[in-house]
Amino acid sequence: MADKYDQDEELKEATEDSEEKQESEESSSEYEDVCFVCRRPESKAGKMFKLPNNICVCDDCMHKTMDAVSQFDYQGMLNDPQFQKDMDNMMKGKSMPNIRFVNIADLQGEGGIPNKQKIKKKKKQEQAQPVLNIRDIPAPHKIKASLDEYVVGQEHAKKVISVAVYNHYKRVATGTMDEIEIEKSNMLMIGPTGCGKTYLVKTLARLLDVPLAIADATSLTEAGYIGDDIESVISKLLAAADNDVEKAERGIVFIDEIDKIAKKKNTTSRDVSGESVQQGMLKLLEGAEVEVPVGANSKNAMVPLATVNTRNILFICGGAFPDLEEIIKERLTKTASIGFNATLKDAYDKEKNLLSKVTVEDLRKFGMIPEFLGRLPIIYTLEGLTKEMMVKILKEPRNAILKQYQKLLELDEVKLEFNDDALEAIAEKAMERDTGARALRSIIEEFMLDIMYEIPKDDNIGRVTITREYIEGTGGPVIDIRSNRLLESSETLKEYPQP
Ligand code: ADP
Repeated sequence: MADKYDQDEELKEATEDSEEKQESEESSSEYEDVCFVCRRPESKAGKMFKLPNNICVCDDCMHKTMDAVSQFDYQGMLNDPQFQKDMDNMMKGKSMPNIRFVNIADLQGEGGIPNKQKIKKKKKQEQAQPVLNIRDIPAPHKIKASLDEYVVGQEHAKKVISVAVYNHYKRVATGTMDEIEIEKSNMLMIGPTGCGKTYLVKTLARLLDVPLAIADATSLTEAGYIGDDIESVISKLLAAADNDVEKAERGIVFIDEIDKIAKKKNTTSRDVSGESVQQGMLKLLEGAEVEVPVGANSKNAMVPLATVNTRNILFICGGAFPDLEEIIKERLTKTASIGFNATLKDAYDKEKNLLSKVTVEDLRKFGMIPEFLGRLPIIYTLEGLTKEMMVKILKEPRNAILKQYQKLLELDEVKLEFNDDALEAIAEKAMERDTGARALRSIIEEFMLDIMYEIPKDDNIGRVTITREYIEGTGGPVIDIRSNRLLESSETLKEYPQP
């Protein structure tokens, strides 16, 4: 009886093993084979010859090798006295000079190519129908509601982005609508540093579950110059999509610091990182087939290439555009300073949301070329953060910084509380630094260090309350000793449910 049980167990294990093997084989066959000699993927070079040790060679390279072998002068070699001497030595067990043997097993994996450089195969059956079903795309109000959970304020920006994204993916899903080609809704986002530009796009990509590449325009240069090629942004997107070309083709590319590629004024040399980058980006923004290296930043003989179509990739450009306010102010005062209703020159000095009055003409004056602006039809601005918004950012979003610390201390069964005064003090300090919400984290990190270090030392501490005095360095936090441990901990868990 026991024997039969053992046999059954063995059989089960064996089938499980073979299933696992099959699974791993299937997952490896998701990737394209790459030619060991010329490094082109299967989709470019055609069917591969499979050699032992996972080495693949394409048809062309195999033929070239065969030709080379057939033209080799064996007769001449056999008559060569040096060759005869070497062969003699080999027969006698001595090693041959100038000849090394390559251990094929050392060339790990598929032709020595690391996993991150492999390209995923395109799925054939899915190509016929649109990848996104129009019914699956959430309506703009739903997208905005989800964004509201993470991003504080910026109502206008959230509304614009929700509608634009909805329209974009509708366009992707349908291809064309009644023969009317719907234009791409690439966007230009203008707002001071740390007001949530990157955060907004990151949140959006996560909610929509599409790959996102974030690139910095300052590192881009015209092809052939030191710096990243413009096409490297697509390479990044491909990496974010796990080298799945189809997934990358409906992703989002966010290009930050776009104001840094404004046309340089009064320059006599070639503007390789400014106007030329704008020129180079034109075809990407509009939609083009680009060949990008897989798993590397630059094209070279050692990396396989993939062709990505940028027609359905949503490009969002963002920048702080310093001095743009001056240009807007100048335009506004110029138009208003003629006639009886002329306004004073400094009438717009105190205007808070001057940036929201931006026009394409102002951006042209700033140094963006008209062709570039023409390909970013949706232009909108984000507001600078106020003290009230900072306080909200601290406590309200789903993954607010305070909630993160509360969760950490909750694991030690300690309740962490912040007085409203304390939150205001943190916001005031952050406002002084002028780096937007980015300052909040560093300020909190500074004073939470001591608390995170000291609290776990004492098991009796049940609650810590951070006060304005503690933030300003004139006092300490209020510490409560737990009276009834059990009661306290159950309270904590009730109040801070898991997200
Ligand atoms: P930038 O506008 O310079 O791209 P970021 O988007 O990188 O700034 O913002 C930095 C950090 O500040 C984000 O990671 C986010 O945590 C926080 N943050 C900024 N603005 C907001 C906002 N409106 N709501 C919630 N968090 C924000």
